[in-house]
Amino acid sequence: MTVDRVRIYEVGPRDGLQHESLPISTDDKVEFVKRLAAAGLREIETTSFVSARAIPQLADADELLPRVLSGQATGVRHPVLVPNLRGFERAKAAGATALAVFTAATDAFTRRNIGMTVAESLAAFRPVLAEAAALGWWRRAYVSTAFGCPFSGCVPAAKAVDVAVALLDLGAEEVCYGDTIGVGVPSQVDALVEASLARAIAPDRIAFHFHDTRGTGLANVTAGLRAGIRGFDASTGGTGGCPYAPGASGNLATEDLVYLLDGLGYEHGVSLAGVLDAARFIAGVLGRPLATKVGQAGGWDPDSGEATARP
Ligand code: MG
Repeated sequence: MTVDRVRIYEVGPRDGLQHESLPISTDDKVEFVKRLAAAGLREIETTSFVSARAIPQLADADELLPRVLSGQATGVRHPVLVPNLRGFERAKAAGATALAVFTAATDAFTRRNIGMTVAESLAAFRPVLAEAAALGWWRRAYVSTAFGCPFSGCVPAAKAVDVAVALLDLGAEEVCYGDTIGVGVPSQVDALVEASLARAIAPDRIAFHFHDTRGTGLANVTAGLRAGIRGFDASTGGTGGCPYAPGASGNLATEDLVYLLDGLGYEHGVSLAGVLDAARFIAGVLGRPLATKVGQAGGWDPDSGEATARP
């Protein structure tokens, strides 16, 4: 019997925490990552080697990553966000072996976010992806605003797929379509998958990064699953939005995703109780209650009918 397996790519430590305004200690970040790995998560985007001025919360990346890697659970991948060659050199010095680069489907967004057009960002990533490939690193590339842009509106699937194809041509192993401002709906997921397959992108090289800003996160995951995609991003505790995208809050919560996948019968290797432990830990660090659905309700045992892993 074949097992239908889903990859859950955890973005909490990086995308989730990056714009938190109160300082979070490196110790607490290390502990958060440790609990995520203990929950069974095997891909944990850990930090970002952007400038400390741009993202003060992740200014401790050079110290954090070696600490995380020294206590690393077996088989866990710790990708880091790298914006340019300078960031790549820092990541390399800190021991990274997996990275993610970050552009978008629309010039209006990349201009505000990283001060470049999409084409300029692709040119900037070329040497980064080439160096990473030469060292055998795992390489992911984000296509943000793949569903809608806060500055230019609805994004046609073909436009996002053009950028994805360019990133794969530059040596990315996986592309991740991001619903940066949380406006996407399932028909758009279908259109993105269809347009990707039409350009010969294999389904196992596609991941989705949904936001639950308007409550469509899990509906979009379901559409992705039905279209044959098996890679989804999520943030434990539901932290993180996008400061360059007005009104955008709410990464899809890992606990909500795990509950859905468990109910649907997909194999993923992640313990809901473990994720809730990590979610409650980070909520405590941030000093606010968990706002996620499953974080509040707990899981559910279909044998006994009782709620599980409640606060
Ligand atoms: Mg996000």
